[in-house]
Amino acid sequence: MPYLTQLADVARRTGHPVVEVPGWRTRGHGPQPEVRGIVCHHTAGPRAGGDYPSLRVVRDGRPGLGGPLSQFGIGRSGRIYVIAAGRCWHNAPSTSPLHTNSCSIGIEAENCGSQPWPRAQLDAYWTLAAELCREFGLPVARVKAHREVNRLKPDPAGIDMNDFRAAVAVLLTGPSPAPRATWTEEIVRDLPLLRPGAKGYDVKTVRANLFARGGLAPGRYGGQLGLKAWLESTEYDDELAVDVAAFQREQGLDDDAIVGPATWPALLRVS
Ligand SMILES: [Zn+2]
Repeated sequence: MPYLTQLADVARRTGHPVVEVPGWRTRGHGPQPEVRGIVCHHTAGPRAGGDYPSLRVVRDGRPGLGGPLSQFGIGRSGRIYVIAAGRCWHNAPSTSPLHTNSCSIGIEAENCGSQPWPRAQLDAYWTLAAELCREFGLPVARVKAHREVNRLKPDPAGIDMNDFRAAVAVLLTGPSPAPRATWTEEIVRDLPLLRPGAKGYDVKTVRANLFARGGLAPGRYGGQLGLKAWLESTEYDDELAVDVAAFQREQGLDDDAIVGPATWPALLRVS
């Protein structure tokens, strides 16, 4: 089996919003040879910090363990992050031959390990597990907690896996939920194409999102304007074009400094 490039479509069948993390189709420790099981994790990330603050760690790894750590992430809002299509380091050593890194898919849901699970996030968790069972022809019993296939692990804390599997089984008796446009897709349809020299309120949106994503060159807004004035400016000037082009390069997009259908979704995505 090659890279699992169908995973974003599988995620969209849950009806939950989906973020395709740039580069996911070729990300992995080599291809995923087969899918025989699903392993559920919690990230043990920060208690606060937004929807999916563990994205960088799950995508890039941590000291001693290279990323990607799992194919999927689930944010607190129920948004599903598609992170990798190849093999991931999420369960070794496995006590189950059906749940090794080479034959299972990992889902890292955002939770510090001792906080309640929001209903929308749980619903996304169940539904994603159900759609993966459907896609790969797996029985519900193949959906396991990390702690069920690795004695050293506690996750996902606070989730009774018998209840979890019962919820997945119920979902599998019905059809897949209808895919829906993500909030970014819905918004992007109404956003204009912005080139350097443009003027208007939407330029402020570009500035605010660049700033929020840390996408500004150091010292960019420390000069004459000051940060507040920089954020308030409705002019797409040359300085902003440099920052937009740098952001585009980082995202793997053409660095033409034109904010259009490819760049808006990258700017507006939560990560
Ligand atoms: Zn785990």
